[in-house]
Amino acid sequence: MRNFDFKNPTKILFGKGQIKKLQEELPKNAKILMLYGGGSIKKNGIYEQVKEALKGFEVMEFGGIPANPEYEVLMKALKLIKEENITFLLAVGGGSVIDGTKFLASAALYEGGEPWEIPAQKIRTSKAMPFGTVLTLPATGSEMNSSAVITREETQEKLGMGGPGLFPLFSILDPEVIKSIPSRQIANGITDAFTHVLEQYMTYPSGAYLQDRFAESIMQTLIEVGPKVLNDPSDYTAASNFMWSCTMALNGLIQKGVPTDWAVHAMGHELTALFGIDHARTLAIIAPSHYRFNFEAKKEKLAQYAERVWNITEGTLEEKAAAAIDRTEEFFNQMGIATQLSSYTKDYEGTAEKINKRFVERGWTGLGEHQSLTPANVEEIVKMAY
Ligand code: NAP
Ligand code: FE
Repeated sequence: MRNFDFKNPTKILFGKGQIKKLQEELPKNAKILMLYGGGSIKKNGIYEQVKEALKGFEVMEFGGIPANPEYEVLMKALKLIKEENITFLLAVGGGSVIDGTKFLASAALYEGGEPWEIPAQKIRTSKAMPFGTVLTLPATGSEMNSSAVITREETQEKLGMGGPGLFPLFSILDPEVIKSIPSRQIANGITDAFTHVLEQYMTYPSGAYLQDRFAESIMQTLIEVGPKVLNDPSDYTAASNFMWSCTMALNGLIQKGVPTDWAVHAMGHELTALFGIDHARTLAIIAPSHYRFNFEAKKEKLAQYAERVWNITEGTLEEKAAAAIDRTEEFFNQMGIATQLSSYTKDYEGTAEKINKRFVERGWTGLGEHQSLTPANVEEIVKMAY
């Protein structure tokens, strides 16, 4: 196991009716900006619950943050924050609203030039405006981590940012919000969380037995409850386990002491930037090809995953490892998620070359847990995913 430091300062309030507790968590005398997305919260009652809990506080609103939070839209919110002397941000939404809020929390105190520099120059945020979240869509883990992904449509870029200043002060996780989520987004959430675990687990060598078993148990839980939530999002037991699994998949715990990959996300982000494909679906497109391409380096871990997560016990190490990749792909397909780029766009020719070029331009010459994956390798993986 590698050395590590671990600190996760986000307070979690989990369960039915917890939105009411917002009052107790917000700093007194705060001037709050409540941020949300395209309006789902106004249809499912979450807006009213939050407004009720905010009674007595000075609150302004900024709605309309799109899926894949867009820089130009966020810059309008930043103007409002500065003009109105906002002191606290409250994100009410999924990963897009929370990530957008993290960008704003960082940009509000940024003393450099254009705030796009923060993701573009990989500037770490150590101090940000304080913020909390009310999660409406389990998927990204953003509610308990310190990263964000921001999109700039003008240049077709989707870039990550982060830093210790970007943990939410608190996050409210009420599994009852899941009732109103369309099945497409539930399938996305399961797939995103599952792939987060894979990115931190399917690496070699790890020597971290406990982290391995944490990771395996999260994947087993998602496999167990995923189809149940898809079938009936008001099944509270399934919904609550789904929600907590998504948070635990990316709150730092399972990545401590182990090498982490994240190449699937790096490639996936390009597919969202180029074609607007949902984040989770880009991961389902890339992951099977990524593991097939890197089979030799990852086969021991793939075989462990086969045995412990999918119960595949027959065959040689290589056979088990290969079967586990197939089972993973089938799992995504069974949730209605296509795993070939050509299922999403007719214009896929040339995509692999374009991504290769972008990675070279950005100096991303070594991806994966050993920084050994070259842009030319990335080109091959993306081609395998056509
Ligand atoms: P999302 O983009 O936040 O939301 C997707 C859709 O679901 C939106 O149209 C939203 O509608 C709707 N929705 C949300 N909650 C709902 C509810 N309770 N009922 C009905 N509809 C609801 O989806 P996401 O998958 O959570 O976030 C994806 C983003 O997170 C991507 O940009 C991805 O790159 C990023 N990401 C971040 C991390 C991280 O660690 N920070 C990790 C992985 C991915 P409204 O807009 O109308 O509310
Ligand atoms: Fe993700």
